[in-house]
Amino acid sequence: MPKSAAPTLLNRDSASQYRRLVSQVSGHVAERLASVDRPWTGITPAELRPVVDAVDLDRPLPDFEAALDELGELYLRDAVWFHHPRYLAHLNCPVVLPAVAAETILASVNTSVDTWDQSAGGTFIEQRLIDWTAGRVGLGPDADGVFTSGGTQSNLQALLLARDEAVENVVKNSAEPLRSVEALPRLRLFASAHSHFSVVKAARLLGLGEDAVITVAADDRYRMNPAALDGAIENCRADGLVPAGVVATAGTTDFGSIDPLEPIAEVCEAHRVWMHVDAAYGCGLLVSPTRRGLLAGIERADSVTVDYHKSFFQPVSSSAVLVRDRSSLRHVTHHADYLNPAEGMFPNQVDKSLQTTRRLDALKLWMTLRALGPDAVGGMFDAACDLAGQVWEHLEADPRFETAAPASELSTVLFRLAGGDDEVQRLAREAVAAAGEGMVAATRVEGRTALKLTLLNPETRLSDIGPVLDALDRHATRIKEDR
Ligand SMILES: *Cc1c(COP(=O)(O)O)cnc(C)c1O
Repeated sequence: MPKSAAPTLLNRDSASQYRRLVSQVSGHVAERLASVDRPWTGITPAELRPVVDAVDLDRPLPDFEAALDELGELYLRDAVWFHHPRYLAHLNCPVVLPAVAAETILASVNTSVDTWDQSAGGTFIEQRLIDWTAGRVGLGPDADGVFTSGGTQSNLQALLLARDEAVENVVKNSAEPLRSVEALPRLRLFASAHSHFSVVKAARLLGLGEDAVITVAADDRYRMNPAALDGAIENCRADGLVPAGVVATAGTTDFGSIDPLEPIAEVCEAHRVWMHVDAAYGCGLLVSPTRRGLLAGIERADSVTVDYHKSFFQPVSSSAVLVRDRSSLRHVTHHADYLNPAEGMFPNQVDKSLQTTRRLDALKLWMTLRALGPDAVGGMFDAACDLAGQVWEHLEADPRFETAAPASELSTVLFRLAGGDDEVQRLAREAVAAAGEGMVAATRVEGRTALKLTLLNPETRLSDIGPVLDALDRHATRIKEDR
């Protein structure tokens, strides 16, 4: 490349260009933010795909500015904005500013938190946050863990540890010599029907098969029944099978219901079965000034999933898996000569992780805690939970709607348009999104379609949700008339 060419790499010589570029980009996004007046434009795949397909990736534009302008058409104009008060659909949160700013730092330095010689201070930042979170959970002095890409990966890793602990036990206690793989078909996991689908996926990936996940009955508030769990584990043993792990969900994705952690811990302890708590959604309660008690019993878990990118208002990705006993992490350790030889004496997060090269996502949470503090984060999650309670009451009182589940312990609200069949719910939801009037989700409750709000925006008010409800009702009326 000729010396006169515009610099393309971030280094000392391009520092001033870097400064310009970042401020140009932030200016561009800031301008967008100022003009966002709805959560989404409602553009269809048929409209947007040709615009993206038309880009010739082998013929670059003259400069970054041109690429940024082009991106406006391809992405930013029709992006889904989770911060908008009428975004009420999935488990996506608005993000706190210190964390967004930290993204710039971690991408610029490009630390990889695998070995000390690629991350130095980043290693300790991540470890401190793991220790801090484990302290909030109450896991005790031997706890450890690692940041992951999300709850799916955290659950996978936790269940991998549970699997390998169980396999070790089976092999050790077997009368005849047994190879580890021979133990796999006998292992079973336990979860309620309302646990996250990543549990079943993990069972598949771990060589156990989906059938290895035994569904434990839940009560009418969608919480696991501990007596049913006890019975299921006994049946499993009676069949000569091996209970390898129980997944208690602290905040089911649909209902925000929290499995009774204390009684489940009792059952797990009595049967000596690994207890995993999937708190991907409910982890925000760890910092809640008023609701921490809802997680009572979580401190007895063997492993815990937390998704900071759900209820800690962090940009994707930011999640962690925590373990009570750090020695269980040996199941994911592999010593490579080139990276982390066994005789290496430095702290290595790679020894605890399914990933090798890995982002310093921890920096976002670090800057959040240092600039805002945990109470501020917990207060925001509390506000979302409070709002969900208000909306549920509001829907109970509004004859145009019916609630489809009891009031959530967290921040989901399930409801239906009264007198509308499944198709009406679905079409009304799509119409509201297509018109940019608001975004709500849908799921199935007791075999019927229900609409679902997942509230994670502490600044959303009942007065923001009212117009979305009105729009749903208006579309539903029209849909029924059109029939
Ligand atoms: C969202 C969610 C997951 C999956 O987490 P990702 O970060 O999306 O991978 C797992 N469990 C529960 C209960 C969830 O709500």
